[in-house]
Amino acid sequence: MFMQKKTSPDIPYLEGLFPRSLITCGKNVLSAITTPEGLCPLRIYLEGGLVRSFEAIKESSESQLGLLLPRFVEPHAHIDKAFTWKISPNFLGTYEGALKANFEEHKKRTIPKVRSRAIRSLDLALKNGFRSIRSHIDSFGLIGDYSWEALLELKHEWKSLIELQFVALVPLEYWGTNNGKNLVRKVANENGFLGGVIAPPYEKKKLRGQLLNLFSLANDFGCGIDLHIDETNQSPASGLRELINSLGQMKVEVPITCSHLSSMGLASKRCIRFFADKLADNEINVIALPRTNFWLLSKQEKSTSFQRPFAPIKELQNAGVTVAIGGDNVQDPWYPGGDFDPLSLMATSIPMTHLAPWTRSGLSVFTTAPARLMDLQWDGTLQVGSPADFVLLEANNWATAMSSSPARKVMIKGAWLE
Ligand SMILES: [Zn+2]
Repeated sequence: MFMQKKTSPDIPYLEGLFPRSLITCGKNVLSAITTPEGLCPLRIYLEGGLVRSFEAIKESSESQLGLLLPRFVEPHAHIDKAFTWKISPNFLGTYEGALKANFEEHKKRTIPKVRSRAIRSLDLALKNGFRSIRSHIDSFGLIGDYSWEALLELKHEWKSLIELQFVALVPLEYWGTNNGKNLVRKVANENGFLGGVIAPPYEKKKLRGQLLNLFSLANDFGCGIDLHIDETNQSPASGLRELINSLGQMKVEVPITCSHLSSMGLASKRCIRFFADKLADNEINVIALPRTNFWLLSKQEKSTSFQRPFAPIKELQNAGVTVAIGGDNVQDPWYPGGDFDPLSLMATSIPMTHLAPWTRSGLSVFTTAPARLMDLQWDGTLQVGSPADFVLLEANNWATAMSSSPARKVMIKGAWLE
């Protein structure tokens, strides 16, 4: 049974250290003095669940303002299989091991199990500060159909707290079957996305046909596309090459997102530049998933791998591609850790990606980029009239916030979540 979460009554204003890179304008703000980490001491006035106005304040030495951030967006999750590590572990920690364990668990999946995993995911995500999640759902077979229905119920129950988007994850050839065609109608009715996996072995001709079929369905039904593509350390960017070539054959009128693009990171600099430009030209968004990639790919039994592929985020950003970072798997066969905590994802991504939250490009991958990529109404920047949706940390600088996952309060529409 769904329990409505409680929030406390509206408060007239709140104060905190807000990242300057997420402020578009405001009284005294553009010329305000920021901390060396680019944080601006702000007072934000609230009204009716929205930001009425805001101004820079002088932070006195006595005041202990906390780091204040917009509620976060998780662009890539799997809430239908979260927390299945215990019943379906993958001790080798390989991609093949994860796939096998996933299929075994899928055979025993039931709707109550899917529902309870999803609720546990949403509970955690809510209290940790997420406002929206895009989740892929294993959608093939009977349990796939039922999972889709059960999760749609949750989507409606949770809509005032967390906005959910769903991607139907099936083998690419499934979209060419009658079951696939039935599924696409269901997906279209709920503004969902068509998903699939492009991984080795790359059978060019077959893949081309499957992609063209997917494009044509997506165009006909107006569904966006979000693919698991090139999550491998083999044949750098081979799936991406086929995707780009296929797009030369058919114009796609819906948004396309490439999740992973890991092996692109192993391509030559020239090749990376070439494909980054192609992605930008085709307005394709990218979701990098460094944490699961670092764990799962290039594993060797008796030696340490120093070649860990993940999407070349900086090169993509330089080419003008919208790039977000997602958490991907949480305590399932694909990744044993994770807890739907945006701060802990940020902290673990810093050493892998060399992107730091005190830079504009390092913060955008967790805030504005996923919001724009998911076409959310609010991009996460502070403006008059933007939602009063914040996360206030018990930390007054990024170093403290990244040292251990900080305690926090979550504000939704101007009221604190209790
Ligand atoms: Zn995934």
